[in-house]
Amino acid sequence: MDGRVAVVTGASKGIGEAIARALAEAGARVVVSSRKQEAVDAVAHAIGQAGGEAMAVACNVGRIDEARALVDRTIAEWGGVDVVVNNAAVNPVYGPVLEQDDAVFDKILAVNVKGPLEVCRRAYASMAARGHGSVINVSSIGGVSPEPGLGLYSVSKAALISLTKVMAQEWGPAGVRANVICPGLIRTKFSQALWQDKQVLRRTLAEQPIRRIGVPEDVAGLALFLASDAAAYCTGGVHMADGGYLT
Ligand code: NAP
Repeated sequence: MDGRVAVVTGASKGIGEAIARALAEAGARVVVSSRKQEAVDAVAHAIGQAGGEAMAVACNVGRIDEARALVDRTIAEWGGVDVVVNNAAVNPVYGPVLEQDDAVFDKILAVNVKGPLEVCRRAYASMAARGHGSVINVSSIGGVSPEPGLGLYSVSKAALISLTKVMAQEWGPAGVRANVICPGLIRTKFSQALWQDKQVLRRTLAEQPIRRIGVPEDVAGLALFLASDAAAYCTGGVHMADGGYLT
């Protein structure tokens, strides 16, 4: 990944942080982004300490102007973009869709779907001018098969899968690839309520060929592959990192 510039959203912890670290270890210059400046400063600093190169940029991807500014700043400082990892997402509610209101749905769609689209739209010209680019959208097993209690979130993740395929179709001729990663249950703050619930954990592991829950690094290797030229012929793909849960 030497010389490549990668923007990773939601990179202050969990899966996004692991992806940012993996890309930096492989030689990429990484823009570490999430809503909280102090949080991304800490990750960028740690990457620097480990010999990598990182820049910390605060951005709430649910706000279109901030999503655009994230890409603009990257291009202004580092001359362009080669890789976009749309990893940030929210799931503010749990329960049946009958109980959810429009404001919640709007927020989920703004962060999980419209934000990723805007970051990519803004970065497209730079990637196309370079003749290559890799978009990696972090969806979920819920985007393939809705998870109980996570209805609207699952809908947003299904939309992200479809959006990725659209990008793959429309941008492939310019050399820009787009792929999806669908993590299963990964041990992060985001999924804490699930893996700390003994019943959910037992049920999940009973259905999963690899009988452990994942760690962020289990997703980072796949992201690194998709970001790199090793995946030069891969686009429009939906790649599972779920321990076989959906098989
Ligand atoms: P996490 O550890 O909670 O990290 C979420 C990251 O997103 C943080 O860096 C957070 O930082 C940032 N973030 C939240 N809202 C944001 C916003 N509006 N704009 C920009 N950044 C925002 O979560 P995770 O488990 O690693 O999840 C990462 C991705 O994997 C998500 O897309 C999630 O849907 C997906 N996923 C996770 C699992 C799982 O089991 N963990 C399973 C399937 C899919 P700030 O608070 O500083 O903004």
